[in-house]
Amino acid sequence: MSKVLVIGCGGVASVAIQKCCQHPDVFSELCIASRTKSKCDALKAKLEGKTATKITTEQVDADDKDQLVALIKKVQPDLVMNIALPYQDLTIMDACLECGVNYLDTANYEPEDITDPAWREVYDRRCKEEGFSAYFDYSWQWAYKKKFEEAGLTALLGTGFDPGVTQAYCAWAQKHLFDEIRTIDILDCNGGDHGYPFATNFNPEINLREVSAPGSYWENGHWVEIPAMSIKREYNFDQVGEKDMYLLHHEEIESLAKNIPGVQRIRFFMTFGQSYLTHMKCLENVGMLSTEPVEFEGHQIVPIQFLKALLPDPATLGPRTVGKTNIGCIFTGVKDGKEKTAYIYNVCDHQECYREVGSQAISYTTGVPAMIGAMMMLTGKWTKPGVYTVEEFDPDPYMDALNTCGLPWQVQDDPALVD
Ligand code: NDP
Repeated sequence: MSKVLVIGCGGVASVAIQKCCQHPDVFSELCIASRTKSKCDALKAKLEGKTATKITTEQVDADDKDQLVALIKKVQPDLVMNIALPYQDLTIMDACLECGVNYLDTANYEPEDITDPAWREVYDRRCKEEGFSAYFDYSWQWAYKKKFEEAGLTALLGTGFDPGVTQAYCAWAQKHLFDEIRTIDILDCNGGDHGYPFATNFNPEINLREVSAPGSYWENGHWVEIPAMSIKREYNFDQVGEKDMYLLHHEEIESLAKNIPGVQRIRFFMTFGQSYLTHMKCLENVGMLSTEPVEFEGHQIVPIQFLKALLPDPATLGPRTVGKTNIGCIFTGVKDGKEKTAYIYNVCDHQECYREVGSQAISYTTGVPAMIGAMMMLTGKWTKPGVYTVEEFDPDPYMDALNTCGLPWQVQDDPALVD
């Protein structure tokens, strides 16, 4: 029995909320709060009569800490699930601390305004010290560790698929398959086709920022940064087939490098078709991916936000997306003195997701682990004061829940390796 406040009601949140409602024994009350309340009301109307979970809705601007504090005091939740955007991570963490409530999210902090001088100063120093230039990094949220410890509260960061499930795979491999993990390749393959010439599968602004940035990987204790999309490999994915994939920077590399002892290399690859890359390059070349405001006919507009308004809403891709995703981790290492390799992965079918919750598989594969992370916290399986990523908890109950809640996984011994 618990009460949860969910912030955000977009593609991922709507899946997470529907999955919570499949477990009313754990999620007895949900308050859905977002910037656009009508979306929360529409989801509530869709779910009412089909779940024993009691649902209420509220409007909130999660960039405003005072509004959040007032809302949390009114709702009195046991947990706040932040499924809005990474821009709101810090205000929501601040509000949780002020109100004494546990916190969870699916993506690490990045600022909306990358020209802010105060943020820029910290960022420039971090780029020099750490050696990667992504706008997102864990330092901002890890800085809250002591405050959460002192308050006796738990913050669980990044419980989506990647980050999230991929780290549970790593913790499970470390616990059950290997004495020592040497390398980890995280492969994110979307074999789905939505029929549009160009669309993104989750929030376009966050997605396009991520994939147009320089790539980087962790090797022998430091970051190696490369120009965007400059390392390409082909891989033959179970149930999807042969795909081109490109090395990207990704947030879980940062925490896994700290939490998997002795790991020598961690890389992240994502599949992209040629049409997606050509569109993205063109948009980048003409300045449409810029986050810096420009003056247009007397108004200030942010090019990437204008682009978002033109692109299909990821939440509407469900009915038209066919095909499967295959996301997992390839490990090399040693067990009982012998060299060993393994691939732990999930295959998810876009149309099956649509039939269950009305969404495509990218929202589904993120929303389900958000629900599972909350379930781990609310049932007392994952609670320790402080700020943690998924691999820092016992993976077994989370891995069991993946199997029963819609994202079953499998282990393949001796998989093809990525060179
Ligand atoms: P959407 O853009 O579909 O939804 C975001 C939601 O947050 C919308 O309901 C939006 O409201 C709301 N929101 C935005 N700003 C505010 C604000 N200031 N105050 C209140 N509500 C706000 O995004 P997605 O559902 O695609 O993504 C959600 C999160 O999941 C993101 O952080 C994304 O990075 C993360 N993600 C994580 C993945 C993983 O595997 N770990 C994979 C994919 C996504 P409105 O309707 O008014 O716009």
